[in-house]
Amino acid sequence: MRTDAARPVRLEDYRPPDWLVETVDLDVALDPSATRVRATLRLTPNPQAAAPAPVVLDGDGLTLTGLKLDGAALAPAHFAATPDRLTIAQPPNRPFRLEVETVIDPSANTQLMGLYRSRGTYCTQCEPEGFRRITYFPDRPDVMAVFTTRIEAPKAQAPVLLANGNLVQSGDVAGTDRHFAVWHDPFPKPSYLFALVGGELACVEDGLRTASGREVTLRIYVEPGKQGRCAYAMDSLKRAMRWDEEAFGREYDLDIFMIVAVSDFNMGAMENKGLNVFNDKYVLATPETATDADFANIEAIIAHEYFHNWTGNRITCRDWFQLCLKEGLTVFRDQEFSADQRSRPVERINDVRGLRAHQFVEDAGPLAHPVRPALYHEINNFYTATVYEKGAEVVRSLKVLLGPDGFRRGMDLFFARHDGTAATVDDFIACFADATGTDLGQFMRWYSQAGTPELAVTGSFDARAGTYRLDVAQTVPPTPGQPVKEPMVIPLALGLVGRDGRDLPLVTADGRQLERGVATISEAAQRLEFVGIAERPVLSLNRGFSAPIKVSANISAEDLSFLAARDPDPFNRWQAVQTLATAVLVENVAALRAGRAERADDGFLAAIAAILADTTLEPAFVAAAITLPSEADIARDIGRDVDPDAILAARAALRATIGRRFAAVLDELHGRLADSGPYSPDAASAGRRTLKNACLDLMAATGAASAVALAARQYAAADNMTDRMAALATLSLLDVAERAAALDDFYRRFEDDPLVIDKWFSLQATIPQAATLDRVRALTAHPKFSAANPNRVRALVGAFAHGNQTQFNRPDGAGFAFVVDTVLALDARNPQVAARLLSAFKSWRVLEAGRRACAEAALKRVAAVDTLSRDVKDIAQRSLAGD
Ligand SMILES: [Zn+2]
Repeated sequence: MRTDAARPVRLEDYRPPDWLVETVDLDVALDPSATRVRATLRLTPNPQAAAPAPVVLDGDGLTLTGLKLDGAALAPAHFAATPDRLTIAQPPNRPFRLEVETVIDPSANTQLMGLYRSRGTYCTQCEPEGFRRITYFPDRPDVMAVFTTRIEAPKAQAPVLLANGNLVQSGDVAGTDRHFAVWHDPFPKPSYLFALVGGELACVEDGLRTASGREVTLRIYVEPGKQGRCAYAMDSLKRAMRWDEEAFGREYDLDIFMIVAVSDFNMGAMENKGLNVFNDKYVLATPETATDADFANIEAIIAHEYFHNWTGNRITCRDWFQLCLKEGLTVFRDQEFSADQRSRPVERINDVRGLRAHQFVEDAGPLAHPVRPALYHEINNFYTATVYEKGAEVVRSLKVLLGPDGFRRGMDLFFARHDGTAATVDDFIACFADATGTDLGQFMRWYSQAGTPELAVTGSFDARAGTYRLDVAQTVPPTPGQPVKEPMVIPLALGLVGRDGRDLPLVTADGRQLERGVATISEAAQRLEFVGIAERPVLSLNRGFSAPIKVSANISAEDLSFLAARDPDPFNRWQAVQTLATAVLVENVAALRAGRAERADDGFLAAIAAILADTTLEPAFVAAAITLPSEADIARDIGRDVDPDAILAARAALRATIGRRFAAVLDELHGRLADSGPYSPDAASAGRRTLKNACLDLMAATGAASAVALAARQYAAADNMTDRMAALATLSLLDVAERAAALDDFYRRFEDDPLVIDKWFSLQATIPQAATLDRVRALTAHPKFSAANPNRVRALVGAFAHGNQTQFNRPDGAGFAFVVDTVLALDARNPQVAARLLSAFKSWRVLEAGRRACAEAALKRVAAVDTLSRDVKDIAQRSLAGD
């Protein structure tokens, strides 16, 4: 058990470590239930700390079996060992060698933190605080050491033995059935980046010559028999390595780069130096088993973890408050990579959709926190959309503010100045300030203030003076612990679009052109004026989503329709359609609840018509534009007294309206976009499939028998998972016989493939119908379901809680009760996965009164349990805080 004595942890309490670790020599003898770990640490007093100081090493559930100082056994009077701490009160005030021996049980490790077994394979997960479950260590990221790892195991049980760095020695242990391998990582690293793998694994190998001409071996390890599913991951890795050289001047540094895919993993993947460990769903893919979205995710996550080699590993975080330094920056880098590999506008739209769906919701609820939090009880709970996705947006805003050249100079300085160190967000921002001579003091508020900033913009055209004026008011809403906010620096990319669809020059009263079309908003109220405007323009704001904010402006529906058809900024074309759709949907939700007639808006439908008629647009963009805001998007826009059933009904009605109005166009498009050749996961082909399947879905939304038949035919005839899954998803929304038949068929086809069966679980969990809860409950007893496997839990219960707005939020509270029951049952086994599931309650306060009361009762039921893990307790308490 972990003690809570030292919690909460506060950023302001940071102080440097008293002791540094120069080298770590690990000697690990793998055994399913009694793995012996011998760690030899070269400890040295930190010149930056107050000496002399005791040595205090972190542990978590450890059993000490031996302790030596400079080779001599330490008498019990000279140290104190508990499961979570090893203290030497009076160590010598000089460098010394400490040998620590522990014995751990990987098979009993159901938390999947530290060393554990996944289907017989030994593997590790050490971020953020898992290394202390392997041996006693100063388990904090600012202690960076050079690791050498010797692993020994029975040859038959673990023929493959891997650790970080380069392989320096391997062989048989004479006279036994055991063998060993020694790995040395020359780059100092924090303990959270340590990794070890042992097992029976097959390997796919490739190579790459770096920009400076070094040969690097690339290996992907998978369960035997799955080598044929790694090609896309390997291709993505090579493209990512090349891209980082070209876009950021960053080259790989070891002789070998390895990826290991395991099936039991709490997260998506982990960037351990030279030895990334992946959830196998982000490695394995074939056209028959993976959708286009799966391929895109694999590409992005392989790249993300690889990019950490520089942003995270070579330059790491001083403490966990700086998590966004590595995560926000690396998400930004992987988004840029995907944008360069695929369609930049479509990637941007998808990223912003994700941000709004997850981060905006988080930012508006009880779990809101700054990109760099100032306090935590459990750091596991801060691997959030705010730290990752908003963190990435803040880096992007910095780039918009400084321009591409200034941004690159700042990045180059960051790499030069901080390589090999544990840095802070302040260090990072200082590089951009120094490289460009910009004062970024106010910009730092993006890291300290939670909440989504809101801009209210009033544009006015003065025909006589030939001027266009913008009055901008900025507010940042209060969030937990932060009732009052200061104005932010917001780089606002904007345009004034003329009647011919071209941007007018943005010239200010002093005769200067607005640089890169970006205005800097830094005050609570601000006025901008542009001169030489001969005609009334249409205002296009926050182009490319230049800042992670909400914008409201006096732009008429007619002007939005114009922007949907003509805005030179593709993101804002999409945004205009979304804004029109949201207005119709919000109005219709209110109408439904009041028993009034719904509105079929011709402005919105005209915008859809214009998009469908524009043959210059790429298919993926058209698909994004004709896809309505999600139920969660609409709920977020309504913001209070939310009735998920009314939202579902209004959205379904509008989908049906589009399906009827454009039936012929959609049908023609669906036919024209059919693949003619073999499946390819490339972005253009994927975009055609996305649009084809969006058409199918809108046609079927009418319930027309012909559309249902078309979906059933597509399901049966598909030669790839994208088309098969899309047809199945379309059928799953309809109460028709074809649905049950297709679901049964899907199960029979893929019952031996856990990653595909996860899709089958998820799809059923997200059907927005009253029978779904019983179906999900029954599926938890299905032989293919396992509460021990995080992917299965997320696929079934996670999909229900996070992805089924009407059924999770059932008015009788049964959805909440089911999720809470699951959280409580899971907590003892795997607190991280349990806490993540409980965070589905993050927007409970916006619900209408009846549902809100049910949600509160469910959360209180969790909070009342006195054996909760720190992870779940933290989420429950914060979700309820303020009551
Ligand atoms: Zn990451």
